[in-house]
Amino acid sequence: MNHPAPIRLDAAGVRTPPDEVVVAIAVDPHHRGIATYGWAVSVDMAERYVRCILAHVLPGGTCERRGPMNWLWRSGSDGPEDMRAFDCALHDVAGVRVSDPECTARFIDVRMGIVHRSVVQATPWDVDDLVRVADVALHEAIAGGGAVVVAQPGTVEHFIARGEMAAEVAAAADADMFPLFQPIVSLSGASLSAAAPHGRGLHVTGYEALLRWRRNGEPVGPDVFLNLLELSELIVPVGRSVIGRSLDVLAGPVTEMLGPAAFMSVNLSAAQLRDRWLVDFLRESLADRGLGPARLWVEISENAVVAEGSVAAEVICDLHEVGCKICVDDLGAGVGALGYVRDLPIDVLKVDRALVGRMPTERTDRAVVRAICDLASASGVITVAEGVETEQMFSMVEELGFDMAQGYLFGRPGELG
Ligand code: C2E
Ligand code: CA
Ligand code: CA
Repeated sequence: MNHPAPIRLDAAGVRTPPDEVVVAIAVDPHHRGIATYGWAVSVDMAERYVRCILAHVLPGGTCERRGPMNWLWRSGSDGPEDMRAFDCALHDVAGVRVSDPECTARFIDVRMGIVHRSVVQATPWDVDDLVRVADVALHEAIAGGGAVVVAQPGTVEHFIARGEMAAEVAAAADADMFPLFQPIVSLSGASLSAAAPHGRGLHVTGYEALLRWRRNGEPVGPDVFLNLLELSELIVPVGRSVIGRSLDVLAGPVTEMLGPAAFMSVNLSAAQLRDRWLVDFLRESLADRGLGPARLWVEISENAVVAEGSVAAEVICDLHEVGCKICVDDLGAGVGALGYVRDLPIDVLKVDRALVGRMPTERTDRAVVRAICDLASASGVITVAEGVETEQMFSMVEELGFDMAQGYLFGRPGELG
């Protein structure tokens, strides 16, 4: 559906023609230059970049300064003749080094978001000019999409919708974020006892707390919002509140049902690992409720263990010292080579449900899981199979010697207490 080109009025109320192309420009968006060379030098470099380099690529139009390091270029109704060549030229100059007259080694990053009118015409969005879309593309570039992002119809909708969803998540009240609890059952005959969720003497040894968002009255899962909480760092306060409530449930109904050895397992994102007060918060939360630290399991995804390197390692060692159980989550989903099992005080390995799900049909996956179980048992590490949905998966998991299992076969995440 095509939208008519909007009418813009300038400051004097004079009708201005619609733009064919708009480019949003951010120099030094991550403040790397400012951190390295200082504010004044960086602003000077940014100005010289626009004047001496960018100006040669932009054909006419107007280039307005929006802030010390931000510019907005509008083509007016005479857009570039060859759009592809124009985008290419901007790509070329975004990678250019802006050297200082006294020191040629100086370098400053540039990010740009470009939008062509034809893209907006092809979308159902009621965008009254192209600036917002150029800003969306610039945001994508700054967030790691590349030096120059040219808005596509899909990207525009996706990012505007994501922005709105992010605002909704950020506005959600504490009470709208809550944990559900999924049972983890023990497979070892030695510890068989009363509560039998599966009618064969299996017993629940603990629960994993899984976050939900009550949105318009309906609970939605983390696939919809976790990433937004992580990007905004809101996962830190939300995570604390959910951990607090999960420990209340452990101290209350879980202990009543399963006794004082039962545990609660909570998930920690990479952003939570970077929270300097996390360890103190967990230590105090346990002490306040009179819970022994070994009753708290913390799950850190294998990808975070590998990618975050020293940050994750430091938290793992500190939490181990506190006495919590350290679980490597989603094992087999990423690229880990298990070297960390030797180097870090790991207590539990949770094998990812994708890998567990492939075991019945894929011999190589079975072999990988067997190797993981052998390594774990040789190192005294507990193994948990995730996502056990069928009897066939369950027998395979038992046969491979897993210590514990979790999955819809034993119970879905639900309320407790
Ligand atoms: P995860 O830690 O791997 O959690 C297991 C996920 O598998 C959960 O999805 C659970 O509902 C689902 N699941 C369990 N058994 C089965 C099964 O038999 N079949 C299938 N198909 N799925 C099963 P959920 O609740 O959607 O959570 C998704 C991810 O979000 C979690 O994956 C975890 O990485 C993250 N997450 C959940 N709660 C929190 C939290 O409080 N904080 C943080 N940082 N991350 C969380
Ligand atoms: Ca988990
Ligand atoms: Ca997992």
